[in-house]
Amino acid sequence: MYKNNLKFIPVHEPDLDQMDFNSVIKTLKNGEISGNFTPTVKLFEKKFAKFCGVKYAVSVSNCTNALQLACKVIGIKKGDEVLVSSGTNIATALAVYHNGGIPVPIDSHPSTWNLDVDQLEKKITKKTKAILPVHFLGLPANMQKITQIAKKYKLKVIEDCAEAHGAKYKKKDVGSFGDLACYSFYSNKIITTGEGGMVVTNNFKYYKELVYLKNLAFGKPRFLHQEAAYNFRLGSLQAALGISQLNKVKGFIKKKRNLANVYAKNLQGIKGIELPFYHEDYYNVYWMYGIQIKEEFGRSRDQLSKFLFKNRIETRTFFCPLNLQPFLRKLKGYTKHKCPVSENLWEQGVYLPSSNNLKEKDIKRVCNLIKKFSGS
Ligand SMILES: *Cc1c(COP(=O)(O)O)cnc(C)c1O
Repeated sequence: MYKNNLKFIPVHEPDLDQMDFNSVIKTLKNGEISGNFTPTVKLFEKKFAKFCGVKYAVSVSNCTNALQLACKVIGIKKGDEVLVSSGTNIATALAVYHNGGIPVPIDSHPSTWNLDVDQLEKKITKKTKAILPVHFLGLPANMQKITQIAKKYKLKVIEDCAEAHGAKYKKKDVGSFGDLACYSFYSNKIITTGEGGMVVTNNFKYYKELVYLKNLAFGKPRFLHQEAAYNFRLGSLQAALGISQLNKVKGFIKKKRNLANVYAKNLQGIKGIELPFYHEDYYNVYWMYGIQIKEEFGRSRDQLSKFLFKNRIETRTFFCPLNLQPFLRKLKGYTKHKCPVSENLWEQGVYLPSSNNLKEKDIKRVCNLIKKFSGS
């Protein structure tokens, strides 16, 4: 059944080269191994803060922990509500949940697929403390509107930039709008350290708290702890990989944007295929190239994915929205939250192979198969 003579095209492959290997080996040979504020860890943080256009960056073990820590330092506690993009990786909701808070899902906008800013104000209650927008698939959320609403209602903003390193809204870096912002360096993200994350901020008080809480909250004397903190340290070998990856990030983003161009050119005009939102104010880094398979396509998203897989092409669906997550639906009153647009995206959204070094001819093969399979 499978056409094994065809090259397998995975949805993503990390972009690693000799510079990355050398960077890790150099750090290892230096004896820098753990994550206890070694020169390599510090350098990675310094370079990353500069990259985001913010004052401080604190490395952590992954973005899930970054988000959890960010919620902790803005003071999220039991019963507090945080307005979260409904279409996101579950990590975004867990960050709120593990602090005792409630991640209130905000439905997606039908064409940007990001949080719909017009839905925010109706979800604000006395318990609302913060907004946690996601820059989904590398497209910035509408940060102007989000920060305006946050100001009006005195809410904090934490940006989930796990998919959006280097994205810009109106020429300003994502990650520099919120009180805090969190990044992921998981293997399929824009840059990788294997596992890893970063919290960035311009606020010195938050910065001190982050450094303190990510490393067990050592006190004075050292082994007297005033708070139940965490070990969320990033190792030096990972930071070494992060530095060499970050040195190449501009090139990575260029590759992602080229790839998106080739997809757009070859998918344009196929009935029932909706391409990513485009507007010049939104500088998209196209972490993954997502499309929506509408009814007019004539076949379902699942049928298409299956067909592509038989042709050795891997795809992945969009996220299952928060309002449908079984463990969240057990929270009191949670089932009242409806997110019809996110639910639709969960059924119709799919992302296509998006490795940095995907060849133009491979993208064309994917697009030709989609065209061929279209039932219209
Ligand atoms: C990948 C991802 C995360 C989690 O990142 P980890 O580093 O794997 O913990 C969080 N939010 C979004 C939107 C993501 O895509």
